Amino acid sequence: MESLDALKQLVAVPKDVVITTHRNPDGDAIGSSLALYHFLRKHGHTVHVLVPSEYPEFLAWMDGVDEIVVYDIDPERCKELIDRCDLFFALDYNGLDRIDKLGQLVDLTGKDSVMIDHHLYPEDFVDHLFSDTSYSSTCELLYDVLKGIGAHRDIDPLIAECLFVGILTDTGGFKYATSPRLFRTAADLVDLGVDDYQLQDRIFNSLSEKNLRLLGHCLANRMEILPEFRTGIITLTKEDYEYFDISRGDTEGIVNYLLKMPGIVMAAFIHEQPKITKLSLRSKREFSVQEIARKYFRGGGHKNASGGASYTSLGSTVRKFKSILPEFADKLKNA
Ligand code: 5GP
Ligand code: MN
Repeated sequence: MESLDALKQLVAVPKDVVITTHRNPDGDAIGSSLALYHFLRKHGHTVHVLVPSEYPEFLAWMDGVDEIVVYDIDPERCKELIDRCDLFFALDYNGLDRIDKLGQLVDLTGKDSVMIDHHLYPEDFVDHLFSDTSYSSTCELLYDVLKGIGAHRDIDPLIAECLFVGILTDTGGFKYATSPRLFRTAADLVDLGVDDYQLQDRIFNSLSEKNLRLLGHCLANRMEILPEFRTGIITLTKEDYEYFDISRGDTEGIVNYLLKMPGIVMAAFIHEQPKITKLSLRSKREFSVQEIARKYFRGGGHKNASGGASYTSLGSTVRKFKSILPEFADKLKNA
């Protein structure tokens, strides 16, 4: 882990700070960014959170989300804020391609830069790298980083709540990537004032009627189970997107339903976007979907949760996905 002292020095004096996080920001991306935002503002910094694309509706209640600058809505403002900042943070992502066109605006010469992230293979574009894949979430890591720079006492209920959001969403409510350390951190955050029941309710009971009908459609009409490869696939077509008026975030979590079958080791959610076909891959235990995402779908992520894309139709993407399964048959069988 990078020197915490260097980071402590960096944030000791008020600066013009930009915090960036990945496209289609999730609870961990927004939670960690807002936690750091509130922390730095408390210390007199001027802070802006920049995201490539909009955050999901289920996070709209969070304190500070209204201040987030979205590249898709206001690219000029993003450029201006990046150009003038003197301290740049990359949270919950490991390479500039994960922030789309926002990444092309980033010129870090003459600026200090810090990455705090828990994904594999961080790219080397920052001065200070805090990257550790043993953490469930960037929020869990950020908690240790804040403690490490002696800022434990600055973690107020608001900051604690933001950190808890990322932990909740990236662990699926303490289901994945858990560890004794994670539960200790969660306990600390509850000690600091987090209402964990209320947060779970806000985050996990946030589906609309449309979401539930879409889920029903996916499970009843768009699910394919391949028992020989212990794999399940759910697909969504452009027509489904239109019919259900699906927007970002509406499909969140659908892929996980496949893993509710005990025999299933890998789950794929493959869906048609306007220009690309996106894949969300999930797995159980030691079976790594990261390898598949990286090798075949120009993506990446974590061992049990990765994503990628293909630049062909839904049908041919599904065929490609199925065609690679024999290569992984043994690993799937033994997982
Ligand atoms: P999701 O399936 O929820 O979109 O993404 C799951 C995980 O895979 C995310 O934590 C993210 O790190 C990673 N991921 C998703 N899409 C991509 C992609 O296109 N490229 C890379 N490198 N990682 C991705
Ligand atoms: Mn994360």
